[in-house]
Amino acid sequence: MSTYLLISRHRGTAELLRAASAIGEPITTVVVGDRALADEVAAGGVTGVRRVPRADDTPVEAYAAGVASLVARAEPGAVLASDDAGGRALLGAVAAALVAPVLAEVTAVARTAHGISVTRAVAGGIATETRTFAGPIALALDVSRRRASERATPRGAPDAAGALGSDAPRSGASQPGRVGGAPDGNDAAATTPEPAATVEEVAVTPLSVTVLDDRPAERDGDLATASRIVAVGRGLRAKDDLGLIADLADALDAEIACSQPLSDWLGWLPSDRLVGVTGRHVAPDLYVVLGISGQPQHTEGTRGASTVVAVNSDPDCPYVREADYAVVGDLYAIVPELIAALETAGGRARAR
Ligand SMILES: Cc1cc2nc3c(=O)[nH]c(=O)nc-3n(C[C@H](O)[C@H](O)[C@H](O)COP(=O)(O)OP(=O)(O)OC[C@H]3O[C@@H](n4cnc5c(N)ncnc54)[C@H](O)[C@@H]3O)c2cc1C
Repeated sequence: MSTYLLISRHRGTAELLRAASAIGEPITTVVVGDRALADEVAAGGVTGVRRVPRADDTPVEAYAAGVASLVARAEPGAVLASDDAGGRALLGAVAAALVAPVLAEVTAVARTAHGISVTRAVAGGIATETRTFAGPIALALDVSRRRASERATPRGAPDAAGALGSDAPRSGASQPGRVGGAPDGNDAAATTPEPAATVEEVAVTPLSVTVLDDRPAERDGDLATASRIVAVGRGLRAKDDLGLIADLADALDAEIACSQPLSDWLGWLPSDRLVGVTGRHVAPDLYVVLGISGQPQHTEGTRGASTVVAVNSDPDCPYVREADYAVVGDLYAIVPELIAALETAGGRARAR
């Protein structure tokens, strides 16, 4: 059974390569984008790479129909893409051409004697289910959750779906050679690099697109890729107090996020700042939570965070119990002290 990977951006490439290798070979990758991305994927141990050059002013979506007919001709058993806007557009078109079901929010895959075992989030991300499919099947991989489950999986141990952990040694001559050093992987150990696959250039005519309006996002930063996030919740008393949160975010060089009351109920922050089952899934190195209680609908979106620091006046709230570090107290007293401490530390560092 052959596997096809659809890649249109750098982020999530390592997770996609690892997931594809758990399903089986041959793995063919269609890269819609620049040559550098295609070359990185080719060095990641796949069987072949077909690059569809994309014009700067043409969105990935415009290439979906062309990519679908390209992939459908090969009749793959499984097709994977990341669960983002471009990935979903490509995957949906391919699934329609293959008349294959689409499974979203996938966190783990594995090849079994009965087909492809797929683990995915259900019930708004509060639970997971694992089922086996015969294929053909189209899978949208949730990169943030996948990263979180890989972090939680001990080196070399089977993960929830029986796939190998992120940096476990694999058998087979043509498994990805850069498992540890894959394009955006975080793993330090690298296996012996294998020769890169050949990149075949394939011209696909995009649908014609007319740009009617081009506006910047509500905030520049993308929460999904942020390495530091300061998240604020209902513990904030007034919209004007967001200035205090912004000062801490500046001192930490962090993005600002929030819980649902602040975005959806009070409208103090735009909805693209919401984290949780309804909002974004994030995977920062540092997640600072101010005045957020830690209900599962919020924490489900932060499973990929490496270190969680909670500030809350309630010593019994879930976040205080579950965070890596917790400060019990009034955020209005603690945040200024944190900012002062960071400025002092920054000043010391500059002086050295
Ligand atoms: C279907 C569904 C989907 C949902 N999706 C999401 C989602 O995606 N994201 C999300 O966030 N929520 C979501 N929710 C809402 C979620 O259930 C919670 O209601 C919400 O997360 C609570 O937000 P909060 O922690 O900011 O507020 P609260 O639960 O009211 O907590 C406020 C916290 O602030 C603390 N606090 C108060 N004053 C201070 C102070 N001065 N200093 C320090 N701490 C203080 C309190 O001790 C408390 O812990 C969803 C709910 C449903 C039903």
